[in-house]
Amino acid sequence: MSNDVDALYDQVCRRAVEISRLDSIQELLEWDEQTMMPPAGAEHRAEQVALLASLAHRRWTEPQLADQLAELADSSLAKQPHSDTGATIRQLRRRLDRKVKLPRRLVEELARAAVLGQHAWRDARKNDDFAAFEPSLAKMIDLKRQEAEAVGYSDCPYDALLDDYEPETSTSDVADVLAALRTPLVDLVAEISQSGRRPDTSILKRDFPVDAQEAFVRKAAAEIGFDFDRGRLDVTVHPFCCSPGPGDCRITTRYDARFLNMALFGVLHEAGHGIYEQGLRADQAGLPLGSAVSLGIHESQSRLWENLVGRSRAFWQYFLPKAARRFPHSLADVTLDDFYFAINDVRPSLIRVEADEVTYNLHILVRFELERALLDGDLSVADLPGAWNEKYQKYLGIRPTTYTEGVLQDVHWSCGLIGYFPTYTLGNLHASGFFAAANAELGELDEQFARGEFQPLREWLGDKIHREGQRYSADELAQQVTGSPLSPEPLLTHLRTKLGPLYGLA
Ligand code: ZN
Repeated sequence: MSNDVDALYDQVCRRAVEISRLDSIQELLEWDEQTMMPPAGAEHRAEQVALLASLAHRRWTEPQLADQLAELADSSLAKQPHSDTGATIRQLRRRLDRKVKLPRRLVEELARAAVLGQHAWRDARKNDDFAAFEPSLAKMIDLKRQEAEAVGYSDCPYDALLDDYEPETSTSDVADVLAALRTPLVDLVAEISQSGRRPDTSILKRDFPVDAQEAFVRKAAAEIGFDFDRGRLDVTVHPFCCSPGPGDCRITTRYDARFLNMALFGVLHEAGHGIYEQGLRADQAGLPLGSAVSLGIHESQSRLWENLVGRSRAFWQYFLPKAARRFPHSLADVTLDDFYFAINDVRPSLIRVEADEVTYNLHILVRFELERALLDGDLSVADLPGAWNEKYQKYLGIRPTTYTEGVLQDVHWSCGLIGYFPTYTLGNLHASGFFAAANAELGELDEQFARGEFQPLREWLGDKIHREGQRYSADELAQQVTGSPLSPEPLLTHLRTKLGPLYGLA
């Protein structure tokens, strides 16, 4: 009997791996679309992606698979929920439950609309023309509403979409987290601006030739542990990381020859995502134990390397002399203290991806409130730019003057990533919790960074997080790694501890 169950388990896993290969082909096409494809290729690409999405959906929804998974869920293999087989069966059922609720027509339309929407967004952003993007966005909102209705929800449609990115987290959980952060962050921004201390950020806006930047960020990514034998770095409009398969992880960035931060912190961020992907178990590729837990946990890894490591003084104790050799005309006269202060400049700004660690979560609050209103039908797409500007005024005290630095800045909505933004804030919270736990266990991380040693932290993350795949939920993992449930405290403590001395705060 148990042999039969084992054979069935292997058969189901083979099936799941096959489906994930279809998804990974789609991922590769999406990478190509955003890095290499000529603009005129969008229509055909949309059809290719829709076909692959449809084929994958067809396989998920074959009745036999649901029956087999139900049988496995009742078997001895599922008895221990956190065993390899127990976790795999549970997570595959979760994936399948969502897939079977979606009509194939909708799956195809969403895949097609994502490619065409992104294409329209790119043009609209370039021409600062919101009206040109409005019809694509209105169509996408309508499709995402259909998706939410098909999947079902208990409180609001947003729950159904959030669940795809952050399983077992509800809209009200996210609202609570953002509410708990809002006042302390707004107060901290005010204290900092009243402190009268300001770094000289002009040192980051000197001449930084793109070739030298590329060489430098490659070296930095490799030193923290991104493996270029199993990965690539390319140029795109809106940076991302994708992993079409084990041994093939692709990160992207964009360069500004007059601003060092964009590619530098962008690459540390994407390399953080990449290190997670490269740390997943290759023998479980395409299966839950070889997959990331959630986008919030994924983002915790990128934000940890970008901010907790990459914006630390110790990191630059090691890297600034190297940067000064790479950019002698721009950095040779810059002291470590001045550089460290400049990369920790805190002030309200318009562009989320360039925001500092304090104001960043206020950018997320704006998007979270707007996308909920769009989905609930309380806000029309035509009124979105005005609502966007008002919320920036309310939470950050500044107002965009163009669509490009306002509502058109992010790619997400154009390709249907609605319900995705809160995972950035969850990632910030998890990152601070994980980092504090690593520091307590490993001790003296700063001293290691100052010597250019990043392996101990990377291996710790690999053991505790990467190699567990989806064995635990995000909340269980946080509890296990940090000893406490997810909370805003580690992030607020980190910000106070770091920024207090820089800005002379009480
Ligand atoms: Zn990210």
